[in-house]
Amino acid sequence: MSNLDEKEKTGTDFIRARINQDNENGRFDSRVHTRFPPEPNGYLHIGHAKSICLNFGIAKDYNGLCNLRFDDTNPVKEDTEYVDSIQEDVKWLGFQWAGDIHYASDYFDRLYELAEELIKRGKAYVCELNADQIREYRGTLTEPGKESPYRNRSVEENLDLFRRMKAGEFADGQMVLRAKIDMASPNIIMRDPTIYRIRHAHHHKTGDKWNIYPMYDFTHCISDSIEGITHSICTLEFENNRELYDWVLNALDLYHPQQIEFGRLNLTHVMLSKRKLIHLVQNGFVAGWDDPRMPTLSGLRRRGYTPEAIRNFCAKIGVARIADSVVDYNFLEYCVREHLNSITPRLMAVLDPIKVTIENYGENEEEYFDCPLHPEDASYGTRKVPFSRELYIERDDFMENPPKKFHRLYPGNEVRLRYAYFMTCKDVIKDADGNIKELICTIDPASKGGQSPDGRKVKGTIHWVSAKHAKPIEARLYDHLFLMDNPAGEEAENFTDLINKDSLKVVTAYAEPHLATYKVGEKVQFERLAYFCVDYDSTPEKPVFNRTVTLKDSWAKEMKV
Ligand code: ATP
Ligand code: MG
Repeated sequence: MSNLDEKEKTGTDFIRARINQDNENGRFDSRVHTRFPPEPNGYLHIGHAKSICLNFGIAKDYNGLCNLRFDDTNPVKEDTEYVDSIQEDVKWLGFQWAGDIHYASDYFDRLYELAEELIKRGKAYVCELNADQIREYRGTLTEPGKESPYRNRSVEENLDLFRRMKAGEFADGQMVLRAKIDMASPNIIMRDPTIYRIRHAHHHKTGDKWNIYPMYDFTHCISDSIEGITHSICTLEFENNRELYDWVLNALDLYHPQQIEFGRLNLTHVMLSKRKLIHLVQNGFVAGWDDPRMPTLSGLRRRGYTPEAIRNFCAKIGVARIADSVVDYNFLEYCVREHLNSITPRLMAVLDPIKVTIENYGENEEEYFDCPLHPEDASYGTRKVPFSRELYIERDDFMENPPKKFHRLYPGNEVRLRYAYFMTCKDVIKDADGNIKELICTIDPASKGGQSPDGRKVKGTIHWVSAKHAKPIEARLYDHLFLMDNPAGEEAENFTDLINKDSLKVVTAYAEPHLATYKVGEKVQFERLAYFCVDYDSTPEKPVFNRTVTLKDSWAKEMKV
């Protein structure tokens, strides 16, 4: 391990430490210019958020710039739907790119010129081995490769063939342009990598202009160079590609940014492979890219996650040069709760109702309580909550034969109805099968507002709604799409066999009337239950709420925070 690696492992943010060092040495004239380079072949996910926060965050911290560049060199998989969603997601996360959006495809002319230049410098050749042969000639980690029989073609012959590749004279796969480096290099990537291939395909931006397309390793470093990027930050899988990144820029005497690698984000219960996410969407395993169970930014947004929570999560997990670390999903939920706790009003809804009849409350009687929308923050204001003889309470707030520590409702016990009255359970009514149908209770009229009339205490406080005033709402209760910690590491014939069949439960819940006034995207806490967000399927007739995250905080409990 080099000294640099040593330091990088121990620093909290080794990337900023390296930028500081570069700035002290006046490298890049002390400029800082990063870029975020997604391939528009899918929607962005929470892993991309880590890279976005890092690249845009660094630009912000150093008064520098960060470009958004679409790495669109593979015409077959790319689509403008993805180009649009990526821009939306970056903005939603709270970042703005410098100037116009860049596309690797904007540089196709320049890349082509530079490929010819490489040929002229005797550093690239047209090779007619097929894909299998190229693989065979490449050698292995322990054995050097073999030189291609086409390796020593003259510059003129290479130029002629390359120009004819461009002109569309050859079929896909018939030949490629390769960099002439070293077939015996210990780094397999350096064994004459392919830099251009023939693809008779329509491109989302350049149309049918090109019959050949540059490969990632040739395109990326040159795009960085053209844009004057200073620090080209990427994930650790590209560590071995750095040698090629440097080789191409040196071979062409181009301005040379510094590539720096960091460990990608892995999360328990989550698959972040775009190929797998596309499969889930295209085969209907989820309702779309923005299904609230998806780890995509559009899915998390629809679920009710906030940009602040995601940015805070990314800041807290930090960056390191460690490849295989896995972050506990509970920690992401902890960050979401922490933010939602600070921005949401609290209201009452019952997800799984049992009916309560209050014997000593008049049949035609009703009243409205003025209740704070946040118990500790008066700035949220108040709302009116109706009360009447028939209520719904949560089924699991009642037990007929409770264990010792159960302080909620059971026969003979008194509890507080939040903001309303003390209430005692008198009787349990069951249907023919023995299922509880209804509870008969009484209230203490002297405890109005939920205040003790005489200093007597109740141990339990439960939420409720007035049955006749309640608004039925659709509540979508989400759980992990994959229950196992490491779904990507699981052996399965097909990874979709691993999907949690109960990852979505849809129930009709009963909400206090004020809940129906919230608009699409707004977030609330259902007291004692969970944070919810109004879904875009919501209508005034049928409000729809997505459960964002429950209140139970297993991460904080474990970590004792
Ligand atoms: P795939 O290989 O599944 O297509 P990708 O990682 O190549 O995904 P890109 O669109 O090329 O996807 O990614 C854009 C940027 O986001 C890259 O710089 C990449 O390193 C970074 N990125 C992608 N996934 C993660 C992750 N899980 N953690 C951190 N950064 C990531
Ligand atoms: Mg990629």
